[in-house]
Amino acid sequence: MRIRTNFSRRLAVGVTAGLTAVALGLPALPAHAAPAVAENIIVMIGDGMGYNTLDLTNLHLRGTTGYQVNPNGSAVKNEKQPGFQSYSYVGMSTYAIVGAYNGPIAWTSTAAATGIPTDSAAAGTAMASGHKTFHGIIGMTPSGKPLPNITERAKALGKAAGVVSSVPYSHATPAAYVAHEISRNNYHNITNQMINSKMDVVIGAGHPFYDDNNKRLAEPDFKYISAADWNRLEKNTTGYSFIEKTADFKAIAEGKKKVKRLWGVPQVASTLQQERSSVRADAQQEKVGETPFNKVPNLTDLSLSALNVLNQNPRGYFLMVEGGAIDWAGHANQTARSIEETMDFMDAVEAVSKWVEKNSSWDKTLLIITADHETGFINGPSERAMVPLAQDAHGNIQIQWLSDQHTNQLVPFFVKGAGAQQVLRLATSQDPYRGAYMDNIDFPQLVMHKWWIQSQAAAPKKAA
Ligand SMILES: [Zn+2]
Repeated sequence: MRIRTNFSRRLAVGVTAGLTAVALGLPALPAHAAPAVAENIIVMIGDGMGYNTLDLTNLHLRGTTGYQVNPNGSAVKNEKQPGFQSYSYVGMSTYAIVGAYNGPIAWTSTAAATGIPTDSAAAGTAMASGHKTFHGIIGMTPSGKPLPNITERAKALGKAAGVVSSVPYSHATPAAYVAHEISRNNYHNITNQMINSKMDVVIGAGHPFYDDNNKRLAEPDFKYISAADWNRLEKNTTGYSFIEKTADFKAIAEGKKKVKRLWGVPQVASTLQQERSSVRADAQQEKVGETPFNKVPNLTDLSLSALNVLNQNPRGYFLMVEGGAIDWAGHANQTARSIEETMDFMDAVEAVSKWVEKNSSWDKTLLIITADHETGFINGPSERAMVPLAQDAHGNIQIQWLSDQHTNQLVPFFVKGAGAQQVLRLATSQDPYRGAYMDNIDFPQLVMHKWWIQSQAAAPKKAA
């Protein structure tokens, strides 16, 4: 194992905004070259997935870390991690409308790391619309004015659009990409807006007739959708083809079955796997994979189903995929389930990447892997913050959850494909340890103000 100083720390030394591209190893754009614009955009969000969430799983899979820093001491061991973690990346700050990231303070004050962090509604709204709002609000300003979002822009340009989640379709992150609602808890209104939207794909957990163990309930629980809307979906009177069986997800994911628009709900109440009952009295004590998994589709199946539907549109598409239960495991401080959920998310990213190479190309498609915020303040084996993650002499992972809430830590933002260099150049701020970072509104603003602009929708079509 190579010992090296942290890459980002070296990057940060003496770097000005103009040098960022060079420091990132990017070729400078020739002045005359037309900037690449992504025809298709896929944003994959690990909800609650910070640098240490990834490294917890990296330690489990390979016994190595990629992102450890030690502000209080000597250099730490990091290794380049495989898959999407080998893509170019920068950091992203995650604050809602209140507060702003300050690197030097963030690394020395636990209060700064934990004070008034964003929630997934405000973060999802920022990432979907390019505008910050208050906690709890879906796709609206603090005063309740609807904010145009990236899926609506895709549809206005004649593209396809979809959202996929491992938690309910009407939960904060997928909701923020489609709906406009003053409270994230108004699930029925949110689902109703999603059904009546122009979306081509909506897939998520939240089946009213099943529990978290994939067992049929005696009485339905209409928490995430009204009974009336559920009946419309089941009767296929919404314009979406409705599926719930694992075999149907697999058939669409494998291209054996085609539908025009898809609404999919795996047969689980709230998450694909994370909320299933544990074989242990306390799921915090569980080992990875110790409790048998629900026999429902995984995030890979859901993501590929969505892509095969969206890919029928010759003008391209926008897709958001959420690994939503990484956050739920973080709130519950469940180390093993955080790893399980992150592994499922990582698998989905690799499958999507392979799908792009087979069905599209990196000249046309942009793939982003990021998070909306960190959850759980994953730390090394100490109550003192900012201690690196470690393994003991027996290879056991040594970590300490310092919170059961979100934090303000930067999150990683990985990029590959069309327009990647423009996206990386959005990272004009500098953190002492993570190096270049952007804010959570910067990417959607690039897309909605420079790439996929409204006037393209309004322009009359030229005769061929
Ligand atoms: Zn959360």
